[in-house]
Amino acid sequence: MSVRTRADLEQLPPYVAGRTVPGSIKLASNEVSEGPLPTAVAAINEAAGQVHRYPDMGVSALTDALAEHYGVAPERIAVGCGSVALCEQLVQATCSASDEVVFPWRSFEAYPIITQVVGAQQVRVPLTEAHALDLEAMLAAITPATRLMFVCTPNNPTGTLLRAAELNAFLDRVPPEVLVVLDEAYFEFVDDPDAPDGVEIAKARENVVSMRTFSKAYGLAGLRVGYAIAPPKVAEALRKVSIPFSVNALAQTAAIASLHSPEELRRRCADVISERARVRAKLVELGYRVPETQSNFVWLPLGSRTPAFNEHCLENKVVVRAFGEEGARVTIGTAEENDRFLAAAESFRG
Ligand SMILES: *Cc1c(COP(=O)(O)O)cnc(C)c1O
Repeated sequence: MSVRTRADLEQLPPYVAGRTVPGSIKLASNEVSEGPLPTAVAAINEAAGQVHRYPDMGVSALTDALAEHYGVAPERIAVGCGSVALCEQLVQATCSASDEVVFPWRSFEAYPIITQVVGAQQVRVPLTEAHALDLEAMLAAITPATRLMFVCTPNNPTGTLLRAAELNAFLDRVPPEVLVVLDEAYFEFVDDPDAPDGVEIAKARENVVSMRTFSKAYGLAGLRVGYAIAPPKVAEALRKVSIPFSVNALAQTAAIASLHSPEELRRRCADVISERARVRAKLVELGYRVPETQSNFVWLPLGSRTPAFNEHCLENKVVVRAFGEEGARVTIGTAEENDRFLAAAESFRG
């Protein structure tokens, strides 16, 4: 006899992290190249001498700072060890074995993994021809067993954005007992005037959660902190299923300091926004198809040429994120990094 692990885990695909190759530029994980905000680094240094203490389990100071930042009551906020942990907690809080989680596909690769780990059923809804979320098809996928839907906007890895009008029309038609998670990990990079603001939607609807993170625009991916703005009942359920002390002390401190530096954040997002326009325009000029993007990455739907493109970039010391024979996702870095990537894209003969 040997120990018995769940048989279904044998079929579970592992999460594929963007590779780090020494000597190469990493444009594979949608990190910001500039690093954390300087005020956050100072706060981390100051707090380092206190890490022999357990963190504040209730994450109260950060919760209060977020409540003030967004003008919501603290009981509508849940903080987690990265927003991916909160995504899993939402599945745990809403689903048991026969319940269904609907999500677009291709989208954030954690959705199928966390759904299966919790033990719920996956319902994947293909994207449109334009690499966008197919809201009609997502509505059609709802059954009496549906408990949760993930709506990723801008969508990772395609960068496409839902407009406020289409999202609200969709939400009007979702049954009130189905919880909709607006995964807005890239919200800070959005500059489309017709974009929805998930926090405002979550304030107004009883079945919507907005999920955001300090990992992307704020540059704190290594510290692991994300948050949900939710109806009070959902936020409470999220706190109930959380692992005690999973939001570490340095993450709490750094997140608060980051919230207090809106000007530093705005400046870096403006740089990403102008660089993404430049990168996309150049790629289109080179003959690539690139969907309009509102995030800090571009999507190249290269199909069967994807593995060769990935190899070519690696040979040119640029690490991108390839998804099988579907396409490659390339993070917007500094101007110099982007130039290195564009040179590789220009010399690709696949
Ligand atoms: C990066 C990302 C997240 C979460 O990241 P955390 O580091 O866990 O906060 C969530 N959703 C999407 C779509 C992402 O791309």
